[in-house]
Amino acid sequence: MLAPVLDPHALAGHLAGHHFIDGRLTPAASTATFPVENPATRAIIGHAAAGDAADVARAVEAAARAQRLWAAVAPRERGRIVAECGRRLLAHVEELARLTALETGKALRTESRGEASVLADVFTYYGGLGGELKGETIPFRPDVLAFTLREPVGVVGAILPWNAPLLLMALKICAAIVAGNAVVVKSAEEAPFGVLRVAELLGEILPPGILNILSGDGPGCGAPLAAHPGVAKLTFTGSVETGRIVAHVAAEKLVPVTLELGGKSPMIVLDDADLPRAIAGAVAGMRFTRQGQSCTAASRMLVHRSLHDAFVEGLIAAVNAMKMGDPLDEATDIGTIISPAQFERVQRYIALGRAAAGATGHACSALPTDPRLANGYYVQPVIFTGLANDHRLCREEIFGPVTCVLPFDEYEEAIALANDTDFGLAATIWTQNLQRAIDAVHRLQAGFVQVNQNLVVQPTLAYGGYKQSGIGKEASLGAMLDHFTHAKTVLINRA
Ligand code: NAD
Repeated sequence: MLAPVLDPHALAGHLAGHHFIDGRLTPAASTATFPVENPATRAIIGHAAAGDAADVARAVEAAARAQRLWAAVAPRERGRIVAECGRRLLAHVEELARLTALETGKALRTESRGEASVLADVFTYYGGLGGELKGETIPFRPDVLAFTLREPVGVVGAILPWNAPLLLMALKICAAIVAGNAVVVKSAEEAPFGVLRVAELLGEILPPGILNILSGDGPGCGAPLAAHPGVAKLTFTGSVETGRIVAHVAAEKLVPVTLELGGKSPMIVLDDADLPRAIAGAVAGMRFTRQGQSCTAASRMLVHRSLHDAFVEGLIAAVNAMKMGDPLDEATDIGTIISPAQFERVQRYIALGRAAAGATGHACSALPTDPRLANGYYVQPVIFTGLANDHRLCREEIFGPVTCVLPFDEYEEAIALANDTDFGLAATIWTQNLQRAIDAVHRLQAGFVQVNQNLVVQPTLAYGGYKQSGIGKEASLGAMLDHFTHAKTVLINRA
């Protein structure tokens, strides 16, 4: 049994240059690699295998072979095996958390450890659902028995982003595997090692070929995976732009696709809200600890004018109290931005906001002073006031530690502002007025709506967006049934 490896540098070195295909670590067919940086220092932590169409072909063939046998395993037994995977991952939370902190820059204490724990929890949750792969009986005719059977779709292609790689992989693979499918995952360029280690750990439990992981870039590895004729279902989390490309490929192949895309999520604070709770909720909701790199980040805060100034003051104080630093240091609250491209993108948005007439950008917290971190992708969180909802900062997903606080006077205005967006992933409302809360829940155009709290995605809570935020759901029983099975209608007449 593989023992936990708590030195993330050693783990990255061990995994470097490999995919995980047919139950084992294996080099890229071309032997090509690409460098992976520690975003806190810009030091190279390892070179990941650069996957291409040949690697995709090997992985899909292995998955197809394995899936035929896996589909014949009793569903509850498949669930039992996935639950066992959850127990194994629980024993490796610390090493996975440290590796994630190293490759993504997400602080160990406030982000990476929690993500590694939820990873194990998602396996445990789906592991209990094997017996729930139920169809329906259909009251068709007295002489005919009519019902539906839930059958696996086959080989699933799963394409991941970098911002929560362990969690987002788990949401895809657990549902797919319990439902009797095999999976080929394409990891994000920036975060290939954590998910690869998960596959290596589970290689001692899952049959070979059921879970395969490829690293590589989008055009070189993601595109051939999406297009491969042996891939019968695509599930993608990432940007709207890439989601559209993947959806086009799925349309050409006529295969189902799940898309979890971006967001510009509103957080409404009504005049009767509990202000200290709302401020704490804003800190959590904006995911400042993750440098705002969250699809559900509360990046548009709509606050009743009577509370606006006190809210902004409280939010600035709360973020000022957070410590930026080395992601692996237990004292650190806020780590880094993931990559140079993302770093520059966030800076461009901040400059754009500062240039807007009447706007103020309040930079919070303090950049780390440790000289070892001088080159890291650290950005001070910025809270903007004075921007209108039609400004680009209020309309486009920044995916960084930048939020806009907008005042409103009337409840109807708040609802209209909240819904005036191309996205529809999440929304929250803070109020002590139950009637208003219920009304808002019905009217907010978002897939994940919360009142007086701002939790992240959890197993059992179906999660997915409206509008440009995507198609389909994850994290629930319904997500497994709807997105990873076919429903076969069966009619049995008398002999
Ligand atoms: P991205 O779209 O740039 O990349 C996502 C993945 O797609 C990567 O693995 C990439 O290599 C791959 N890819 C790129 N081009 C491809 C192609 N032509 N064919 C197939 N695959 C291709 O997104 P990102 O920058 O990694 O992640 C950030 C985005 O993810 C944000 O927009 C964020 O909102 C979104 N996101 C959404 C959710 C959600 O659940 N809704 C969760 C997390 C992140």
